[in-house]
Amino acid sequence: MAYLTTNPATGEVERTFDTITAKQLAAILDESEDCFRNDWPKRSIQDRADAVRRAAAIIREEQDELAATMTRDMGKLIGQAIGELQLSAAILDYYADTAADFLSPKSLPGAPGATLHAQPLGILLAVEPWNFPFFQLARVVGPQLMVGNVVIAKHASNVPQCAVAFESVMRRAGIPAGAYANVFASTDQVGSIIDDPRVRGVTLTGSEKAGATVAERAARNLKKSVLELGGSDAMIVLEDAPFEATVMNAMVGKMNNAGQSCVATKRMIVVGEKRGKQFLEAMTAAMASLKAGDPLDPATTLAPVSSEAALQGLLEQIEEARAGGAAIVLGGNRIDRAGSYLEPTILANVNADNPVYRKEIFGPVLMFHVVADEAAAIALANDVPFGLGGSVFTADLERGERVALAIESGMAFVNGPTWSTPQMPFGGIKNSGYGRELSQLGFGEFVNWKLVAVAPAGSMPPGADAAG
Ligand code: NAP
Repeated sequence: MAYLTTNPATGEVERTFDTITAKQLAAILDESEDCFRNDWPKRSIQDRADAVRRAAAIIREEQDELAATMTRDMGKLIGQAIGELQLSAAILDYYADTAADFLSPKSLPGAPGATLHAQPLGILLAVEPWNFPFFQLARVVGPQLMVGNVVIAKHASNVPQCAVAFESVMRRAGIPAGAYANVFASTDQVGSIIDDPRVRGVTLTGSEKAGATVAERAARNLKKSVLELGGSDAMIVLEDAPFEATVMNAMVGKMNNAGQSCVATKRMIVVGEKRGKQFLEAMTAAMASLKAGDPLDPATTLAPVSSEAALQGLLEQIEEARAGGAAIVLGGNRIDRAGSYLEPTILANVNADNPVYRKEIFGPVLMFHVVADEAAAIALANDVPFGLGGSVFTADLERGERVALAIESGMAFVNGPTWSTPQMPFGGIKNSGYGRELSQLGFGEFVNWKLVAVAPAGSMPPGADAAG
C-alpha cells in the first residue's frame, strides 16, 4: 500500500511516503507503551489540557497553510478546509476545557462509599479516512489524550501530508511522540498493531468493509472497538417546509465536501407531487449553478472528488442506477478537464429494486424521491441498511421532532442538515457502526470507570447479618 498525494484537481502525484518498517513500528509501540506507563497519564489534567489547547492554537495560527495541504491531498474547497480546521481546533479546546469535570470521580447514589474513577486504558489505534483529514483526527485525539490514553493513528493512504502536518502540530504543542504517533502502516501492520497486547482499543472511521475487518480482529483479541461507518442519510421535506431555506439547507447537506461526507444528504424525500416537482426544479437549478475549478481558488464552488478511483466508482454507480431504471435528471458525467471532477448529479425514480437504492453514493450525487405522505417518507428513510444521521424540514417543530425520532439513526436534525459540533455526539446504528465520538459520550468510549467501594474498617462481610 503506497502513501501518496495525488492532487485530485490535477491528477499529478505530488509526494510519496514509504510504508513504515517492522522495526520502526516496533519502536513506536515501545515508545507509546513507555509513555503510557511513565508519562502522559501521570501528568496533571491541567498539563495535558495546556498541550491540547496549544495544538488548537497552532491549528488556528497556521490554518491557511494547513488548509492548502488538505486541499492538495484530497481536493476539498479551500474555504471548507478552513472551516474544518476551525472545527478541529474547537474540538481540541472543548475537551481541554471539559476534561476536569468529566474525569472527576463520581459517587453512586444509594451506594455509600462507592465511587467511580475514570482511568485510561492504554494505547489506542485510530484508523481514519481521508474525507475530513483534520476533523477525524481531532475528534479522536482531543478526548483520548485528555482521558490519558495514548494514540497511534493510521490515516488514509491518500492524505499523507495531512497526517504528517497533524503529527507536527501535536509535537510542537508539546505532546510527546509516545502520546501521539502517526504510522504509515499497511493493512497487515494494522492487524499486527491490533494483536499487540499493549494496544487496548481501536476506533475506525471508514467503510463497512474496513470496519468489519478491524472490529473482527479486535474482537478476536477481546478488545473494544468503536466504528463510525457509512451512511445514506435521508432529508425528509414535509408539506409545510419553508421552500427557500429548505433548498439552501439541502445544498449544504448534499454538497459540503463535494458530497463526500458520511452524513451528507444522500436522499431527499419530498412529501407531495406538486412540491416534489418544485423542489426537484430548484435543486436542479442550484446544483447546476456550481462551477468547477481549482479548489484552492476561493471563487470555485465545485471541487473534484478525492481520486480518479472514486470518480470511476461514482460513474459506475450512476450507470448502475440508470440501467436499473433511474432517471438522470442532472449531470451524470465526468467534467472535461484535468482532475477527477464529476458533474453534480440528480437521480430520480430510484425504485426499491434499483441496485443503488440501498447503497451509499459518496459524492455529488443526490437521490431524489417523492412520496405521498409522512408515513411513506419515514418508511423510505428507514429502508436502507444504514442508520447514521437524517433530517426533517417542517414549520411544525413538534411534528418535526416526532418524525426525527422515527428515523432509525444515531442523529436526526429538524430544519438543518446533519452536522457536527464538539458538544454533540456523533455516531450511528445499524451498518453505520456503533459507539460515539464527540461530546461527553465520545469522552467515555475508552475509559475504565473503575469502581472503588470503601467500607469502614472492621465492617462485617456482606450477608453477615442474614447468616447470623
Ligand atoms: P475506507 O476505505 O474504509 O478507509 C478508511 C480507513 O480504513 C483508511 O485509513 C484505510 O486505509 C483503512 N482501511 C481500509 N481497509 C482496511 C483494512 N482492511 N484494514 C485496516 N484498515 C483499512 O473508507 P473510504 O472509502 O476511504 O472512506 C469513506 C467511507 O467512510 C464512507 O463509507 C463514509 O461514509 C465513511 N465515513 C464515515 C464517517 C463517520 O463518522 N461515520 C466519517 C467519514 C467517513 P487506506 O487508505 O490505506 O486503504
